[in-house]
Amino acid sequence: MTSNVSEQFHATGADIHDTRAPSGPIERRWDDHKFNTLLVNPANRRKLSVIVVGTGLAGASAAATLGEAGYKVKSFCYQDSPRRAHSIAAQGGINAAKNYRNDGDSIYRLFYDTVKGGDFRARESNVYRLAQVSVNIIDQCVAQGVPFAREYGGLLDNRSFGGVQVSRTFYARGQTGQQLLIGAYQALERQIAAGTVEMNTRHEMLELIMVDDKARGVIVRDMVSGEIQTHTADAVVLATGGYGNVFFLSTNAMGCNVTATWRAHRKGAYFANPCYTQIHPTCIPVSGDYQSKLTLMSESLRNDGRIWVPKVGGDDRLPSDIPEDERDYYLERIYPAFGNLVPRDIASRAAKYQCDDGRGVGPGGLGVYLDFADAISRLGRAEVEAKYGNLFDMYAQITGENPYEQPMRIYPAVHYTMGGLWVDYDLQSNLTGLFVAGEANFSEHGANRLGASALMQGLADGYFVLPYTLANYLADGPYEKVDDDHPEVVAARQAVEDRIAKFLAINGNRTVDSFHKELGQIMWDYCGMERTEEGLTKAIGLIRDLKDEFWSNVKVAGVNEELNQTLERAGRVADFFELGELMCIDALNRRESCGGHFRAESQTEDGEALRNDDDFAYVSAWEFGDEPTLHKEPLDYEYVEMKSRSYK
Ligand SMILES: Cc1cc2nc3c(=O)[nH]c(=O)nc-3n(C[C@H](O)[C@H](O)[C@H](O)COP(=O)(O)OP(=O)(O)OC[C@H]3O[C@@H](n4cnc5c(N)ncnc54)[C@H](O)[C@@H]3O)c2cc1C
Repeated sequence: MTSNVSEQFHATGADIHDTRAPSGPIERRWDDHKFNTLLVNPANRRKLSVIVVGTGLAGASAAATLGEAGYKVKSFCYQDSPRRAHSIAAQGGINAAKNYRNDGDSIYRLFYDTVKGGDFRARESNVYRLAQVSVNIIDQCVAQGVPFAREYGGLLDNRSFGGVQVSRTFYARGQTGQQLLIGAYQALERQIAAGTVEMNTRHEMLELIMVDDKARGVIVRDMVSGEIQTHTADAVVLATGGYGNVFFLSTNAMGCNVTATWRAHRKGAYFANPCYTQIHPTCIPVSGDYQSKLTLMSESLRNDGRIWVPKVGGDDRLPSDIPEDERDYYLERIYPAFGNLVPRDIASRAAKYQCDDGRGVGPGGLGVYLDFADAISRLGRAEVEAKYGNLFDMYAQITGENPYEQPMRIYPAVHYTMGGLWVDYDLQSNLTGLFVAGEANFSEHGANRLGASALMQGLADGYFVLPYTLANYLADGPYEKVDDDHPEVVAARQAVEDRIAKFLAINGNRTVDSFHKELGQIMWDYCGMERTEEGLTKAIGLIRDLKDEFWSNVKVAGVNEELNQTLERAGRVADFFELGELMCIDALNRRESCGGHFRAESQTEDGEALRNDDDFAYVSAWEFGDEPTLHKEPLDYEYVEMKSRSYK
C-alpha cells in the first residue's frame, strides 16, 4: 500500500485483538462462552455495585436486569425521566429471526444479512450472537406486554426492512421504540421501587473516574442545581447512545451527544470506526436556514412506497401530472432484486445522484418522491392508514402536504452512528471495568447498520449479554472502596470544575449553536454522504480553526449553580469538535468505500462502492492523544465469504 496522506495527522500503533473472542463452531460460541464465564452467587451480588449511564433501550434493559439479579445499580440520564431517552423516537421496528412468515428466515440468515449489510466490517462472532438472542428479545418483550402488531391469526406480524429479502421486522405501528422503551422502563421502575436501582435523572456524566487502571466511577453535574457529584462503583456501563448530532442537523433527539464516550476516550478508551455514519434515505428534506432538527420517515414506508423522480431534470409539474412513462423508479430500475428495499447507504447515495443530476424535486431540488398511490389503490386507504397512519400524520403536520393525496418528498439525513467505543466480545472496552452497550459501542453493524437492527442490538446488550459478561468481571470483586478524597477522584472532579469555569470565563461574541451549526455544515459537506481526500484534508483544517475560535470567542451566559442549557451545550459542542476532527482523520485513513463511508476515489465504473479488503479489512481503534494513534483490529471471515455486495 502506498503511503497514506492521513498519516500527517496521526500515528500508527500496534494491532489489537479481541482477547475475549471465542472460537469453535459459530453456533456454539456464545453458549460455550456463557458456560465458561464466572458466576456470582445471589448473596454476593448485593455487595457489588454498577453504574449504568443511559436509560435508552440499552441502558434501561441493562440496569433493570442487573437490578433484578440483585446487584446495586446506580442509573443516570440527562432527561427528566428515563422514559425520554432517544430510543423512544424509533419508529419502524426490531428484527428477530423467528421465521414466523415461513419465508426462509433463520438465525444464520439474519447473521449472514447483517455481516453482508455491514459490508464485511463487523465481527462474525458478535453478529452471530446478536442473531441468536434476537429471538429471546421478542419473547421477553411480549411477556412484558409490548403491544406488537399482530396479523389476523393472532401471530405477531412482520414487515421487511432494507437489505433483506425476508420479513423479520416486528413492530408496534410507527412507535416501536416507544413501546419497547415502556417495557424496559417499567422493568426499571420495578427495580427502582424494589431499591436495587437508584435513579438519577437530570444528571449529566462529565468525567470517568479511573483508579489503578480500572473504571471506578463517574463525575456528574446535577443539571438543575449545578452541583458536581462523585459516584463510585465496582464497574461502569456506558449506554449513552450515538453521536450523529456532530452534524448539527440529524434525525437524532436534540440532546444526543458524545460527551460520555468522548470523556472515556480521553481517559484511554479506544474509539472505533468513528467515520462510519449512517445517512438515512427517508427523511423530510431540510426546509430552511433556521431548522435545528430533521425528521425521519420510517424505512418501513419503503415496504409500500415507491421512490421516483421525473425522468427529465427541471420538470416542475405536479407529481400527479407526470405520466408513468416519464417517471424514473430508479431503485427498482438499478436494483431489481431488492428494489425500494436496498440498504440505506445505497438508497441514500442513489437519491443524492438523482438530485446532483438535477432531477430532484421540491425546494432547491433536494428531494425525491416516496409515492403511496399504488399501495392505496392495491390495499385501500384504510389499510395503509392502519400500518403507517401516525407517520403520515407527522408528515402532514410538518410539511402541510397530504401524503394520501400526493407523494411524500424525502431526502437523506444523518441518522445513526456505527462507530463508538471499542469493545471486546464481552462488551468491555480496553479500559478494565468499563463496559459499553447499545449505539455507544462500535460492534455488530460494521460499516452500515441494517434497518431495525439497532433496537435489537441495544436490547441484546442489556437484557442478554451484559448480565453474563459483567458478572464474569464482577466475580473478582468487590474491589477496594474508592473514597471521595482519592487523588484520582479529586483530579477528575477538579477537571470538570475547571472546564466549567473556563466556559463561563470566555465571554465571547458567538453563540454555542452558531459554532455547532458551522461545524455540522463542515461535517456534512466533507464527511457526509461522499468523502474525498481533498475535502477531508480541508475539513480538518477548518475544524481546527473553528475550534480555536470557539475556545476564545464563545459566549456562555449565566452561572453554573442553576439550570443552564447554554453551559450544557457548550460542553457537548466542545467534545463534538474533537470527535469531528477524528471522524475526518478516520475517513481520510480509510481509502476505500464501504457501507456508510463512500470515498469518491474508490468506486466502480458504474458508481458503486469499491471496498479494499486487502488493505482495510480491519476495525480502526483510535487512542486519544495530541496526535491520535491508530490501532488496527484485523477482521477474519470464516463463515461468510467476503465478496462485493450486490443488491441488483
Ligand atoms: C428517528 C429515529 C428512528 C429510529 N428508528 C429505529 C427503528 O425503527 N429500529 C431500530 O432498530 N433503530 C431505530 N433507530 C435507531 C435507534 O433508535 C437507536 O440506535 C437506539 O434507540 C439507541 O439506543 P441506546 O439505548 O443505545 O441510546 P439512547 O436511546 O440514545 O439513550 C441514551 C441514554 O444515555 C443518556 N446519556 C447520554 N449521555 C449522557 C451523559 N453524558 N450523562 C448522563 N446520561 C447520558 C441519555 O439520557 C439517554 O438516557 C432510530 C433512530 C432515530 C433517530
